Amino acid sequence: MTDTTYDYNLFVIGAGSGGTRAARVSAAHGAKVAVAEEYRVGGTCVIRGCVPKKLLVYGAHFAEDLRDAKKFGWNVPEPCDFSWPTLRDNVLAEVDRLNGAYTQTLTSHGVEIINARAEVTGPHSLKLSDGREVTAETILIAVGAHPAVPDVPGKEHGITSNEAFHLDTVPKRMLIAGAGYIANEFAGIFHQFGAHVILMNRTQEILRGYDLQIRDRLLQISMMKGLEFRFDAQFEKIVKEADGCLTVHMHGHEPVTVDCVMFATGRVPNTHGLGLDTAGIELDEKGAVQVDEDSRSSCPSIYAVGDVTNRVQLTPVAIREGQAFADSKYGGKPCRVDYDCIPSAVFSHPPLAGVGLTESQAREKLGSVKVYSSDFRPMKNVLAGRQERALYKMVCDGETDRVVGIHMIGPDAPEILQSAAIAVKAGLTKAQFDATVALHPSMAEELVLLR
Ligand code: NDP
Repeated sequence: MTDTTYDYNLFVIGAGSGGTRAARVSAAHGAKVAVAEEYRVGGTCVIRGCVPKKLLVYGAHFAEDLRDAKKFGWNVPEPCDFSWPTLRDNVLAEVDRLNGAYTQTLTSHGVEIINARAEVTGPHSLKLSDGREVTAETILIAVGAHPAVPDVPGKEHGITSNEAFHLDTVPKRMLIAGAGYIANEFAGIFHQFGAHVILMNRTQEILRGYDLQIRDRLLQISMMKGLEFRFDAQFEKIVKEADGCLTVHMHGHEPVTVDCVMFATGRVPNTHGLGLDTAGIELDEKGAVQVDEDSRSSCPSIYAVGDVTNRVQLTPVAIREGQAFADSKYGGKPCRVDYDCIPSAVFSHPPLAGVGLTESQAREKLGSVKVYSSDFRPMKNVLAGRQERALYKMVCDGETDRVVGIHMIGPDAPEILQSAAIAVKAGLTKAQFDATVALHPSMAEELVLLR
């Protein structure tokens, strides 16, 4: 596939989930590939997102598990110490290991890794921060996104999820702005580590897009655990006090003083200063690269995958986009990503997960809808004396009985939902769920016993 007109067949900007997959598979298909990464190979998911977050979630669960353990006969010393530096450093060491593994995978597939920032200078040309200029037949933009920080006086005193993994100590009092994925996940994590957490959101809704009853259940449980919420709250200013504390002034509520303010108010595509205008690439109003179903931008030789396109900001989606790009372009297997029925989860405490249409979406789209649910206290919670109840919902097409959505909150909901999502994707009916014998005793058995 060597083409002497250009330095490379493919030049990928960004070695995150989408870029790494595209680079590796394209090279395996025979393309001469380079990937430029200005920070660390692995990208948001591996370095400062899904992976370290999930490890913190595991760490946070021990707080409740150790408390519950007594009811199961274990003698747990009181007080039971938690060392944040130990967990933090172990998590960061695991991130280093994965960074090495991703780097190794790329190099073993013959991908040239360039540790520099790359900017587009035309449809087939780039300049690198190390001074080099290179050319490529095709360019793939896979630069991801970064946390959005509202333009509020004193915003420089706050942190984002990027910094949360590196904190010196667990803050005693923490205000998290936003009520989406990151806000709810980090609220759960730091609450379990002993912080007093306040979530502040500009509207009254948490986790927009998830099923209303499931979101309500998380809100109830979070409040029961001691998390505080400030709804319909808009920032006025953040003031750093003489003792280092931060006072957050907001419209509609009394000011609150905390030790740490974290912004979790969405993410912005990393297209600023990337030179995309030199190739005539169209962006949307949020700065995301506009692409067609083949991930091709408005410049025919430039493609984009992952969060920078702001389609679905999830790692497995970016990976599929990278794979589809590589197989279509260099593997002789034209294919496109199917965005229907993508399962997703929020690793809150407890976690929630969903696939397909929510009840309200189904009512709007289908008209006739049947909803089955199970509201139960998991066996483990009963013995532990824990009041938290799980809620599973199945949304079916009223005409055909086809399951169009499953939504759940409770222990291990993401683990259970992944399997259930296969059935929803396959278009199975409620009767086919019911025909499956329950696996007893489990929480997942509720899925075949729903009324
Ligand atoms: P989300 O879009 O999930 O949530 C953003 C929150 O911030 C919402 O509550 C929103 O309010 C609020 N908000 C948005 N803009 C402003 C603003 N200008 N001022 C004040 N509040 C604002 O974003 P996250 O940052 O939590 O996460 C980013 C993305 O990363 C997610 O969309 C998700 O795709 C991905 N992610 C996935 C995870 C997973 O799969 N488990 C985990 C973490 C992230 P409102 O709803 O009222 O607009």
